[in-house]
Order: sequence, then structure tokens, then C-alpha cells
Amino acid sequence: MTAPGADQYCVIGNPVEHSKSPQIHAAFAAQTGQAIEYGRRMAPLDAFADVVRDLIAKGYKGANVTLPFKLEAASLATRLEERARAAGAVNTLSFIDGEIVGDNTDGPGLVADLTRNADVALAGKRILLLGAGGAARGVMLPFLQQGPKTIVVANRTRATADALVAAFQDQVTDVRACGFADIKDSFDIVVNATSASLAQEMPPVPAAAFGAGTLALDMMYGAAPTPFMLFAAKQGATTRDGLGMLVEQAAEAFAIWRGVRPATRELLSTLRA
Ligand code: NDP
Repeated sequence: MTAPGADQYCVIGNPVEHSKSPQIHAAFAAQTGQAIEYGRRMAPLDAFADVVRDLIAKGYKGANVTLPFKLEAASLATRLEERARAAGAVNTLSFIDGEIVGDNTDGPGLVADLTRNADVALAGKRILLLGAGGAARGVMLPFLQQGPKTIVVANRTRATADALVAAFQDQVTDVRACGFADIKDSFDIVVNATSASLAQEMPPVPAAAFGAGTLALDMMYGAAPTPFMLFAAKQGATTRDGLGMLVEQAAEAFAIWRGVRPATRELLSTLRA
């Protein structure tokens, strides 16, 4: 049942039952006193656009988009914010005056988690980004906006890393591509943006990438540390999973829709517990 006057939102995905977004947005709504309802919507693989049109017809104000529809959402949007255009993918849709506005809060969510929750500034840092898929592309612009010294993108398929790096050349930050075997030095921050953890695998990153001062973050989250996190910890790195990124990308989406950014620290502790 919809509460009278509540604006409606949902997350669209396939599968979508596992999504924590309804729980997160319900907590944000309670905290900020915003009258919203947020549900889940499973879209058939060939019917994402139909689902979006149905939501608009029903008066929904927006939706989050998760796997495998982030690229399709970018094509469907009638207007793209800069960070969505740079990412080539959309995870947040707003339905405003007949427009479908696409944004991407995954990268800003990761930056917020690193800078606010982990208390790690990115300016002047040496960053190693593992993977060159959608998640890696999404973090490039938000990372560059923080002014790191270096971003090295390592990918299994070298050509994909080369293409990603070519799209994000920068005047302040040295942005380079390499293969995993080329990694010889340690980094301040190592982000695992490969999907290896989904299969309980580890990207073939050498031990040399990690030192005692390294923060190693896996975008994946779950009940147990990933093989990447276990390996990095063994090399003396501090480790972090992707739950903070998830909560922060949701907070960014909530701020886009409602004009108020919820606090996240307490919710993050609750979800971790
Ligand atoms: P994509 O499918 O777009 O990209 C996958 C990437 O992983 C590619 O670079 C691929 O390399 C690489 N890869 C896959 N398997 C391996 C392996 N065994 N060893 C080394 N490299 C591998 O996925 P996404 O970019 O969308 O997602 C990546 C991860 O980020 C997922 O785990 C996802 O759950 C997570 N994520 C978390 C979010 C959060 O809020 N916490 C938000 C968004 C994503 P190649 O090019 O060679 O195939």
C-alpha cells in the first residue's frame, strides 16, 4: 500500500531480490523525514524500457538501475549529467517534466566512502585501479576531480584498459594503463573493480602492489572478506569492502531526488552488524 502523498521510487534490476537499496532508502527517508516509498522492480532482460515507461505512467519520481541495465539506462535517458556521460552508464534516473534524466552516483559514492568514512584523501595519491569495465569507468572522473598523482588502470584484457585510459587523459594526474604482470611498485590505494570476487576469485595482482600504508578496497561486499581483501591484508594493507560505496551511492541518489543528503555512518554500522 502506498502512503498518501509519498513519492515513489524503486530499483530496477535482474535479478533484484538481493538488493539492499529498499532498506537503505527507507532508513534515509525515516532519518530525513522525507515522504518516499522505495521498492524493487524486476525487469525482463528485453523489457527494461517498458518497465521505465510503466513507472513514469504510474507517477514514479525516479529509479535506481542495477545490473545488467546500466548501459541501457544511459541510452534511454533523454538527458545525461556529466558524470553519467563520462561513465557511459546510469545508475540513477529522475523523471522530471517528461524528461528521463540519467546520472551516475557509483563513482561519487566510492569517493565519498574513501574520503568521509575511511578518512583517506585522494589528492596527491598513487591509485591502482584493477579492472576496466563499467564500474572502473564510472570512478575515473570522480577520482580525477580529487587530483590524485597517478591512476594506473590494470586489466586482464590490456586493450580495454588502453581504451579507458585514452578517454580520461588529464592535465594534473598521470593516467596510465598496464597489464597485471607489469605492476612492480606499491600504491597508496588499490581498488578492485574487477568482477573476480563474484566468483570468489582473485585478480592476478602481484604482492608488490601492496605495502603497509596501502588501502585496498574491493567494490564487492558480502559476509566474508573477498580473496582480494585476504591477499592484500596478508601483504600488510588495510582492507575495505564495497558496502560503504553502496550506501554512499544511495545517499547521492537520495540527494539528487530529494535535495537533502542523509547521514550514512550509523546506517553503515547497522548494515555491517
Ligand atoms: P564488468 O562486467 O563491466 O567488468 C568486469 C571487469 O572485471 C573487467 O575489467 C574484466 O576484465 C574483469 N574481470 C572479470 N573476471 C576477472 C578475473 N577473474 N580476473 C581479472 N579480471 C577479471 O563489471 P562491473 O564493472 O559492472 O562490476 C565490477 C565489480 O564491481 C562487480 O563485482 C560489481 O558487483 C562491483 N560493483 C560494486 C558497486 C558497489 O556499490 N559496491 C557498484 C558497482 C559495481 P576483462 O576486460 O579482461 O574481461
